[in-house]
Amino acid sequence: MLELAKIPFPEVARIAQSGKAVVILPVGVVEEHGAHLPLGMDSFAAEAYASSTAPHLEEAGYDVLVAPTINYGVARAAIDFPGTLSLEPETLRAMVVEIGRSLARHGLNRLVILNGHRDLHHMKALDEAKTLLGDAKITQVLCVGFVSDPATTAACYRDGVRQFYQSPRPDREGHGGESETSVALHAFPETVKQEIIPSLDPNFDYDVDAFRNETKDYGSISGGRGYFGWPQAATAETGKQLVFIRGQNIARVILTAWGSVK
Ligand SMILES: [Zn+2]
Repeated sequence: MLELAKIPFPEVARIAQSGKAVVILPVGVVEEHGAHLPLGMDSFAAEAYASSTAPHLEEAGYDVLVAPTINYGVARAAIDFPGTLSLEPETLRAMVVEIGRSLARHGLNRLVILNGHRDLHHMKALDEAKTLLGDAKITQVLCVGFVSDPATTAACYRDGVRQFYQSPRPDREGHGGESETSVALHAFPETVKQEIIPSLDPNFDYDVDAFRNETKDYGSISGGRGYFGWPQAATAETGKQLVFIRGQNIARVILTAWGSVK
């Protein structure tokens, strides 16, 4: 796995000429995730999943390039929390299309959009970018991670991970809860306010439908707490398992669609 922004152009040419290149584009957002997690949580998680996906694609013969993360996205549900930033969906869509076009110009025509942020408008914008690039035969595109299709999201993020949850209400774990806190404790612990986690009460009793369908903002659904579930159930060890298994899952989704190139 190589990071596109950290290599010189002749190396890109060599990889493109191999015909085995796949580019992973991590996509996140700047959004509150409770008082204990950084605003860049979803971007950093997408990067961690890109790293845990890459070895499985390499085993299948691919040369994996990871493009610089899109750190901005659509974040309307949490927009009232300090620091949350939101793009219009069209802006995100245009960014992805233009990045896909530029990559294809250099012969990099397999693009995996690996999205770490669950937001209906954000995911729809990524889907639309995929359709625009695909219909114009500019590049082959797959959306993985959080996507509009719930079955694909489950295949990437939920398959095989339930056993690691220590929360008494795994069905109520969501934004800023056990899963995300665990991933942060494992993959970017220096950004976690660990000292306040013991003071965070469980937030299980929230309006799940309003949360999933984004009919109310995060501030009112969470009583100003900004997290859903129980951050105290999180451990770095759980995070390690989640990142590993989700990497396997995401690679499986990609290889099911595109096969190996050995
Ligand atoms: Zn998140």
